[in-house]
Amino acid sequence: MHVLVINCGSSSIKSEVIDTQTGRRHGAFTIERIGERREGSDEATSRLRWGGAWAAAGGDDPGQPIAGSDHAAALAVVLPELRARLEAADLGLAGVVHRVVHGGERFAEPARIDAEVEAAIEALIPLAPLHNPANLAGIRAAQELLPGLEHVAVFDTAFHQSLPRRAQAYAIPRALAREHGIRRYGFHGPSHAHVAAAAAAHLGEDLRDLRIITAHLGNGCSICAVEYGRSVETSMGMTPLEGLAMGTRSGDLDPGVILHLLRSGVLDLDGLDRMLNNHSGLAGLSGVGNDMRDIEQRAGEGDEDCRLALHVFAHRLRKYIGAYAAVMGGVDAIVFTGGIGQNSALIRHRACQRLEFLGAKLDEDRNRDARVDAGADKVARISADNSRVRLLAIATDEQLELAREAAALLARLDEIGTTRLAHRTEVRPIPIAISARHIHLTQAAVEQLFGPGHTLTPRRPLSQPGQYSCEETLDLIGPKRSIEGVRVLGPTRSKCQVEISRTDEFHLGIDAPVRASGDVANSPGITLRGPAGSLQLTEGVICAWRHIHMTPEDAAHYGVVDRDVVEVAVPSPTSGRELVFGDVMVRVSPKFALEMHIDTDEANAADLLANSEGMLVSTSGVARLTKRKVVASQLV
Ligand code: ADP
Repeated sequence: MHVLVINCGSSSIKSEVIDTQTGRRHGAFTIERIGERREGSDEATSRLRWGGAWAAAGGDDPGQPIAGSDHAAALAVVLPELRARLEAADLGLAGVVHRVVHGGERFAEPARIDAEVEAAIEALIPLAPLHNPANLAGIRAAQELLPGLEHVAVFDTAFHQSLPRRAQAYAIPRALAREHGIRRYGFHGPSHAHVAAAAAAHLGEDLRDLRIITAHLGNGCSICAVEYGRSVETSMGMTPLEGLAMGTRSGDLDPGVILHLLRSGVLDLDGLDRMLNNHSGLAGLSGVGNDMRDIEQRAGEGDEDCRLALHVFAHRLRKYIGAYAAVMGGVDAIVFTGGIGQNSALIRHRACQRLEFLGAKLDEDRNRDARVDAGADKVARISADNSRVRLLAIATDEQLELAREAAALLARLDEIGTTRLAHRTEVRPIPIAISARHIHLTQAAVEQLFGPGHTLTPRRPLSQPGQYSCEETLDLIGPKRSIEGVRVLGPTRSKCQVEISRTDEFHLGIDAPVRASGDVANSPGITLRGPAGSLQLTEGVICAWRHIHMTPEDAAHYGVVDRDVVEVAVPSPTSGRELVFGDVMVRVSPKFALEMHIDTDEANAADLLANSEGMLVSTSGVARLTKRKVVASQLV
């Protein structure tokens, strides 16, 4: 499938025609310095350069001057010519993908652009005043000049919509934050998604089994904790100004500094904006600009300011790596990407120094020799053979990620996607059961808690074949409080596991991760008290990731596969209001029966609280599967 990627920055347009299966580029163009004028004249400075198969023959291309003064005018010149070139090459487009920087609360995945989506992007302009207007101008011009094609928006923020609330929220008054959409959104989503998937592919492992830290270090820099394929923490916040030190942006700064500069009149609002966005970071510290190559060279020659710039940059990076390992309870791979991450052995060396305590050991020779580029060598392993944490330099490819995410949406629209699922009358409703807190035990634990030789006594079969609730109950003793009489489930397993709800977490005083059942590595422990004794678990407490059990036949019906993440709508039986659960994991096995499991907190939110006591209580509720969510690079 061929798609046209259009990436409208504040003063530039980059565009490529990409074959989403092979990643091959058929042609490209860039237009730079849009809206700028030559000093003292009306002459526009923007220039169009064709690239890839369409590049001007022979060496340096001075570029063709573009008369217009904005994105729309520039596209009005270039798109008709692009269409002619496509026709000449007999290349048909399946769609056009537009990069949109801010998707706010609304967009957790790519969206087919219609009037409503366009209005939503416009409404988000206050959150991205430099970028969303340019993105929107590109969308409008391209829709007019390339009618009859599907246009798709891919959002920089979408990958981070999975951030848990604690990573989204700033510690400011809730009402203020809510009213003005002030929260952490995160950026560089396509790059983080792309290199995380590329790391998993390179390691030959499933992305959904890995905890990866991805550091995108270009002119803008951000770092992301990708836990089992989902972004759970990232360094950029409401705007791309927070976090790491960058080329010209300050990154983290005590907000008191801003108040001080404003209050004392040293800088006004615009001056402050320019200082933080354009004159800080590497440029501000080094005094010689934002190019890492220059800074490294001068630092080597003894320039103290450049040395400090390198130290600050690498120190903050290392600090974030340590923090994100703590956030995920460990890390399996660390990825460096972007112009600096891919090319600077020095920054990688400094960032990885003294990370041995995490199990991350750099191989200095491999690091020095690593060369990665968009060609054949996209990934280089730079860790030592005995390093538990794999260290990788990976060439990012944001345009390809955009193209693939859009292609996945376009394919889904034809196949199993929103349209078809929403309009298929025969789509099976999914029964919902409320999963109360419960405990799985090993046989050894059963004997320690209930007495030697004890075996579990089945009480009632559960809806999942072979599973049953038992007569036995135990007390959970948390650091803060206890919960008595928690049901044990059979049969016994190879590991003990305690599944509780968010409310239980606060009651017990435990911070349990949201996990798929069976995945208890690095989770907190708890004390179990039974009639014959107590057992202190060192790990095993999780908050179950809401999920749907289904058979392979059900999976084929819905067009999903094991461990897909889907969106489901649950109509409330009392109010008729629909609650959408955006992050539901699909588990497929011939041993399962079709059923969605939510915990008691979630059942409360959906007005589904059952009054009967029990382990897995069936409800009158049914879920409607509305969307399959895909990290595109996993698909193609
Ligand atoms: P953008 O964020 O604009 O896409 P890039 O990802 O191209 O930027 O990264 C630009 C940064 O990469 C610049 O600071 C540049 O100095 C740095 N860089 C490029 N090549 C090297 C290199 N060989 N060594 C060190 N830094 C490099």
